[in-house]
Amino acid sequence: MAAITSVSGFPRIGAHRELKRAIEGYWKGERNLDEVRRTAADLRARHWQLQQEAGVDLIPVNDFSYYDQVLDTSILLGVVPERYRKLGLGPEDTLFAMGRGYQGEQGDVTALPMKKWFTTNYHYLVPEIDQDTKIVLEGDKPFKEFQEAREQGVAAKPVLIGPYTFLKLARGPQGELLDPDPALVQDLAKAYATILERFIGLDADWVQLDEPYLVLDKERGDQDLFETLYQPILKARESDKGKVRILLNTYFGHVGDCYDQLADLGFDGIGLDLVEGRDENLAALKEHGVPDGTTIFAGLVNGRNIWRNDYAVSLGLLDALHQVTSNVVVSTACSLLHVPYTVADEDGLDADTVRPHFAFALEKLGELHDLAQLADADEDQRRSSKALADNQRLFDGSRVQPDPQVQQRLAGLKDEDFVRTPARPERQRIQAQELGLPLLPTTTIGSFPQTAEVRAERARLRKKEISQEDYDSFIARKIDQVIDHQEQIGLDVLVHGEFERNDMVEYFGQNLKGYLFTRNAWVQSYGTRCVKPPIVWGDISRARPITVRWSSYAQSRTNHVVKGMLTGPVTILNWSWPREDINHKQQTRQLALAIRDEVLDLEAAGIRIIQIDEAALREKLPLRRSDWHSRYLDWAIPAFRLVHSGVKPTTQIHTHMCYSEFNDIIKDIDAMDADVISFEASRSDLTVLDAIQEAKFETEAGPGVYDIHSPRIPSTEEIVDRIHAILKKLDAAKVWINPDCGLKTRGDKETWPSLEHMVAAAHQVRAEL
Ligand code: GLN
Ligand code: ZN
Repeated sequence: MAAITSVSGFPRIGAHRELKRAIEGYWKGERNLDEVRRTAADLRARHWQLQQEAGVDLIPVNDFSYYDQVLDTSILLGVVPERYRKLGLGPEDTLFAMGRGYQGEQGDVTALPMKKWFTTNYHYLVPEIDQDTKIVLEGDKPFKEFQEAREQGVAAKPVLIGPYTFLKLARGPQGELLDPDPALVQDLAKAYATILERFIGLDADWVQLDEPYLVLDKERGDQDLFETLYQPILKARESDKGKVRILLNTYFGHVGDCYDQLADLGFDGIGLDLVEGRDENLAALKEHGVPDGTTIFAGLVNGRNIWRNDYAVSLGLLDALHQVTSNVVVSTACSLLHVPYTVADEDGLDADTVRPHFAFALEKLGELHDLAQLADADEDQRRSSKALADNQRLFDGSRVQPDPQVQQRLAGLKDEDFVRTPARPERQRIQAQELGLPLLPTTTIGSFPQTAEVRAERARLRKKEISQEDYDSFIARKIDQVIDHQEQIGLDVLVHGEFERNDMVEYFGQNLKGYLFTRNAWVQSYGTRCVKPPIVWGDISRARPITVRWSSYAQSRTNHVVKGMLTGPVTILNWSWPREDINHKQQTRQLALAIRDEVLDLEAAGIRIIQIDEAALREKLPLRRSDWHSRYLDWAIPAFRLVHSGVKPTTQIHTHMCYSEFNDIIKDIDAMDADVISFEASRSDLTVLDAIQEAKFETEAGPGVYDIHSPRIPSTEEIVDRIHAILKKLDAAKVWINPDCGLKTRGDKETWPSLEHMVAAAHQVRAEL
């Protein structure tokens, strides 16, 4: 008999991003709501059917969403701030207003803030709870989708974000942390109890409550909060009307610090991530055991990467589990939302040698099936299993051979390759002389508006409607214009505008050996937006110079300094699908060496300032603080240093980060040993400046003086105020003036006046100094 299988959640955007097209079409006024609803229902039906055909026993419902599952939860629980209710829009439009803001006849509201979902590149909308919030079950989405599935003959497992995670992610109206009052906690528990009662009424078997927040370090009171929430919920699973089973599902890490509590509470099922939290979860299971009435949902199939499952490893884990309990369900380690749809249509990847190594969402269903078959098989049966034999061939070590040159370089690395000399204060003195910049130098983050014209030209090149030469001269013209324009408005350090780049990672990947690209492997990032990360297949090295041509062209057009623009190794890896046969540290080092070659070539070509963007450095910071250094920063920061340690003291190295939440890793950021850093600061409060001051931060800093995420044009006065606020905390000799991020998503209309105001503001404050 095969084991039971369960899927935590399935991608909802559609094989061809049908949901994106439908919803964006509606926003543009090209489709009506009925069409959107129909597309959504079709997608749900198809996805359930696919899972049913693949033999999945516990198929998720309510994992579907028009925008975001956390936003759905807010709406379900009545956590809808008054300003959205007041618009008086229908349910879908209210949801979209919360997700992306609304400006029209009914009013003008901004969207709820958006944050990264744990360590993924998915973003959720932050629930907003204020004093007037009354939590009460208001919606019926989970029940409707459950019934919809049943009408199609699918006995599904409803999935919801659990109350603990919901509350931990919620914030006050100013984004502040909550200290929820007991009445609110009670109401929340009651709402979930009511949800369970409703599901009992509908005759559901399992209800899955996702509690990924449990894999984070606990703060004081967290365990009590969890129990206060769950006692009434657990009580509600049984009534005279029947019974429903609760699966308490965790993922993205381990629950070693609270597993005993979960086990004691008597959940019917506990979902454990045996990919990311493997060792600690297993140890906890062995130490505390599994109560009789509890089933362990073994998260074996990785929902965060696209490589084939190594069945031998998974079966080993299953065998270890079976020593502790016989109640085991074979499950995905987290929702499959974070992987693309299917590898089957990727005809750019060789069908015999490459594609078999990958498993996207559909293929992962097959893996669940295989593992469930093999779970209870005896040794003979396993020996004669074709699925197992085929799988083992993928892992026999012949997939890629190490690149000897790369290996040799890595082996030859010495400590001094990670240290730039002379020390930074000395360099800063040398660079001040060399570059001759004024106080409060003005610059931008790199990209200028990627207008429809630029994208159209790239599309024409792709379709071979124009020649490479035509395209190149188009890019050159754009650079000429943007250089002229920057000179005219009086910026100090210029950029070439990044018009040639489709994306700050893919563009580099295309010029690196060891990378593969997909056609359709989209993954949701936020709302209807998707990303298509490239794949690290083998050892990485630079195939050819990447940015030298356009940077030096731009420099040849002006007497100002032109800043060269690169993406850093940590960000490239974080926004790629990494290999699983070597670790992230090794891959990042390979990338670092490749980008180092580019840095040295840029320097040799006469580029005197080089910016190495690490926009995604914070994204993969481990969820538990005790792992921050040992599992990440201890190699990520040196990798960055390896990129730039070879340049002359006169060459100025910049970096950029798209956030300012680095108060807690400020020393590590300083240890990257860049000469200058620019970062987002315009939207958040300025506490980061206090942190910089306190840490005696050596790196010169350009806290963004205006928000580029909005089309609004800031006035000169408000930027002056901003600079004054900055100078209260930081030494003017170490401050740069720049926007908070690249301008590629903006239009020319707002970009140029905003930059003029920025330059005027810098001049005004300079004159006061
Ligand atoms: N240099 C890049 C740009 O300006 C940086 C992008 C980013 O930080 N995400 O577009
Ligand atoms: Zn940025």
